Amino acid sequence: MGKKYMQNIVSRIKGMGILRRPVSLFTFSCIVSIGTLLLYNLPFFSYAADNTNESAGGKIFLMASLAVIMLALNFMMTYLTVFLMRTAGRLVLAILSIINATAVYFITTYSVIIDATTIGNVFNTRYSEASGFFSWPLWLSIAAFGVVPALYCLLRPVAVGKAKKMGAYCAGALGAVLVTALLNVSQTLWISQHDTELGGLLQPWSYLVNSVRLATTHHDEQAEEIRLPDGRITDNEKAVVVLVIGESARKANFQLYGYQRQNNPLLSRQEGLKVLQATSCATYTTAGTKAILEPLNSDELHELLPNYAFRTGVDVTWRTSNWGEPPIHIDEYLTNEALGEMFPGENIYHDEILLKGLRERITSSKKNKVLVVLHTSTSHGPNYADKYPKAFERYKPVARNVEEGEKNVATLVNAYDNTILYTDYLLDSLINMLRAMDDWKSAMIFISDHGESLGENRMFMHGLPMKLAPKVQYEIPFLVWTSENFRTCKPTADGREPAEGELPAVLEQHYIFHSVLNLLSIDSPAYNKDFDIFK
Ligand SMILES: [Zn+2]
Repeated sequence: MGKKYMQNIVSRIKGMGILRRPVSLFTFSCIVSIGTLLLYNLPFFSYAADNTNESAGGKIFLMASLAVIMLALNFMMTYLTVFLMRTAGRLVLAILSIINATAVYFITTYSVIIDATTIGNVFNTRYSEASGFFSWPLWLSIAAFGVVPALYCLLRPVAVGKAKKMGAYCAGALGAVLVTALLNVSQTLWISQHDTELGGLLQPWSYLVNSVRLATTHHDEQAEEIRLPDGRITDNEKAVVVLVIGESARKANFQLYGYQRQNNPLLSRQEGLKVLQATSCATYTTAGTKAILEPLNSDELHELLPNYAFRTGVDVTWRTSNWGEPPIHIDEYLTNEALGEMFPGENIYHDEILLKGLRERITSSKKNKVLVVLHTSTSHGPNYADKYPKAFERYKPVARNVEEGEKNVATLVNAYDNTILYTDYLLDSLINMLRAMDDWKSAMIFISDHGESLGENRMFMHGLPMKLAPKVQYEIPFLVWTSENFRTCKPTADGREPAEGELPAVLEQHYIFHSVLNLLSIDSPAYNKDFDIFK
């Protein structure tokens, strides 16, 4: 009896033939389109609903209109992809499902918006750093919302049908889009006000459109840098400048800027340290680093500080545990891995490696002017707790990464504050090293590429477009120390327009280029005294 019952069920399932009997391409496209809306575009609708001033009725009409347009466009895209490319088209849909699931995971977990810079950051991120983002919740989410729909797209038998039918369905879908758009003409202004956010939340269009945008602009950025007019070194004094580029260091968490924790114990005792107010030009590494090194704010690529100083005859060395910098053309470019080979036994994942042998390197220089750039990575997420030695874990307990920290933001802030404590130690060591080099005039400048979000308004990390970014993502530390008898900073104009010879209350990253030219005694038509922090 039991056996017969089982056989009955098996034959019934076979009879349904869910995986054998093909559906029409129309049905298949409807299912994929509805699935795309429900699985990947709820953040889009939630943003739209939260940001419209319409009355309840108007809101429902707007949401319904957006849904109709999205369903019709996704339907058309699916239909055409499979009709024109058959199996290859299904493969495209499967890949899009997996990318969609990944994008939505990052949108909901880190409150990111997928625009051209986010895509650029994805392509620029090294695997070692990106692997910090991979975690079980991400894999599970990709499996459930990416792989399962992908298998459906690949395996569901479909009867493709005739070209005539395709024409009719696509014309119908296009008609629906046009009519709905016309009924909503009054929303044009609202859409243009929110285009960045709406576009960045719309899957799969956000990354498809932005990847194309990035590919077309990338070509120009690879162009050769615009050469600056020649400069010359005007004296023979021995002088060294150490420029430290911070990573994701935000002003709000520095004791020197009034943070309540004592996480700058060493620097706050350093005599002659200048604490300046500054903002970054962008919220991501490539743009922030470029702004620190270039002579003026520009979308174009001008000759950068290390390249220009090197060409003018300065001994330039670049040491990095980071990446994403614009093209550097100098003789000595050392990564933390390369330094690890020069100094075996050192931990190359903590930024102290960048200071190894530095004093000997400077004092053995055959030139009188030396520029050292240290591109650090100490406060880079999502794994803040991996960026400093155990001895610097003063604030506990710590979240191992941002995902863990989301559940308890205080533990994430603890880990982050430890990175600032470690930064305090590194900068203090540098200043002490320079101070001990009696026969050199010296300067240490620390400025961050951008800030960081640590859970305020459920935002984490950095990279939001400037017009949406919270202050913490662009208010950065800017610290300056110079040896005795060397240059001194101009006074800062507080609360009023700066007079001649004064600095504005808040500086930007382009002050670095001109200030360093001054320190290295480089006389150049490219130098602008208004962007020099020194007298
Ligand atoms: Zn950065």
